[in-house]
Amino acid sequence: MIAAESLHNDTYGVASYIANTHTTGLARSGMAEWETVDLANPTEEHRMLREMVRDFVREEVEPQALEYDREEKFNLNLFRKLGEYGLLGISVPAEYGGSGMDATAVAIINEELSYSDPAFCLAYLAHSQLMVNNLAFNGTEEQKARILPKVCSGEWIGCMAMSEPGYGTDVLGMQTTAEQNTDGDWVINGRKMWITNGSVDEEGTPADICWLYARTGTDAKGRAEVTTFLVEKGMPGFSVGQKIYDKSGMRASNTAELVFDDCVVPAENIVGSPGESMIHMMRNLELERIGLAAMGLGIARRSLAAMNQYASEREAFGQEIRDFGQIQRHIGESWAEYRAMRSYIYDTARNTDLSKSGNRLDTDGVKLFGTTAAKNIADRAIQVMGGYGYVGEYTVERLWRDAKLLEIGGGTLESHQKNITRDLARMPEKIEE
Ligand SMILES: Cc1cc2nc3c(=O)[nH]c(=O)nc-3n(C[C@H](O)[C@H](O)[C@H](O)COP(=O)(O)OP(=O)(O)OC[C@H]3O[C@@H](n4cnc5c(N)ncnc54)[C@H](O)[C@@H]3O)c2cc1C
Repeated sequence: MIAAESLHNDTYGVASYIANTHTTGLARSGMAEWETVDLANPTEEHRMLREMVRDFVREEVEPQALEYDREEKFNLNLFRKLGEYGLLGISVPAEYGGSGMDATAVAIINEELSYSDPAFCLAYLAHSQLMVNNLAFNGTEEQKARILPKVCSGEWIGCMAMSEPGYGTDVLGMQTTAEQNTDGDWVINGRKMWITNGSVDEEGTPADICWLYARTGTDAKGRAEVTTFLVEKGMPGFSVGQKIYDKSGMRASNTAELVFDDCVVPAENIVGSPGESMIHMMRNLELERIGLAAMGLGIARRSLAAMNQYASEREAFGQEIRDFGQIQRHIGESWAEYRAMRSYIYDTARNTDLSKSGNRLDTDGVKLFGTTAAKNIADRAIQVMGGYGYVGEYTVERLWRDAKLLEIGGGTLESHQKNITRDLARMPEKIEE
């Protein structure tokens, strides 16, 4: 293993790390390439990325995870370090300060961070996948050149605001409006709810940049024509309404209500054409769903490791508890589900081209399956560990609380069931492929 310390300097992000240490390919002599591919580490670059993040997690993320959960605080300083490693712009082209990697790389990072601290990872997901990736694929040249280097380095923290107090799954009901004034600026009014990274501290400081969806028109069915705006900290009328406390899980990520009160945004901060954001909104949701499923994979792996170790250490009635059939059921089922998640998630990531939409069926599928499997595996870990499993120090109770959010955020289970059923009606041939 390479010590995280040796990777941690300004010139040693993920791209240069891989360039400097890349030595051998995966193929073993005498075997066809497909026989040697591990979907979760398909190339040497992916394998080295995983190793780097795993070191960082062990040395920097794990020691703070319990404390920040208990205090319900976001570790902003640690978050900025992700920028030094080249992780905040993992899918952004190098010319804008990113690492130019793919959906598999995103899944690897989310899995590894969530092995230790899913809430910290949720903040990472909101920034790098919901805001930064979206800008990298949809922004204008001016927006990308001006903003991407700042969000890739961690100088700026980003968020994405879609949900509202009265509208979540029913996103096209959104009530936040934007109207163009006579100067050509846009004036935004409304409230956004549940926004991860919406505030970055306890003092109500908003994110430096908010990827905001607002209604700029209404179609014949009364649904919103949605437009994207880049709202920057300091723009008049943009503020934090409240930080939301007392969440069940994901307590080390900040969740906030954002207020737009005659908020004035210059015309150059619109992304794409008015009313045409549905396409990029849906495309980015595909990456979000892979990202959330991969978070579940990290939770599942850690929970499985914890219950497996404990089952050998704990004795009852004069024998290791792993000898009991009911404990074997918890471990055996968790292993099989974990392996199924791993294959489905990384296969879907491999088939997801970040510059195109069109993978809704499987990105909904991995989130539907992977999030509930993660919650169930964390639940079994608590059960195997008895009273100890129910206490924060033993980690799995925190993972269990964090896992529940994955069934709600980025699309509820019910929305995935609906989407999959609709997609299979349109594409029944998918079943026979
Ligand atoms: C910790 C946290 C972080 C979040 N971060 C963000 C963020 O960064 N940005 C952001 O924009 N949002 C964020 N969200 C919001 C999240 O995406 C929404 O909570 C989610 O989309 C569900 O919306 P809702 O809560 O309004 O529930 P609703 O949409 O009101 O759903 C309530 C129930 O009704 C069901 N339901 C609704 N419609 C249907 C239907 N057609 N068929 C069947 N059942 C249906 C749902 O599945 C659910 O069970 C976050 C939420 C949380 C809790």
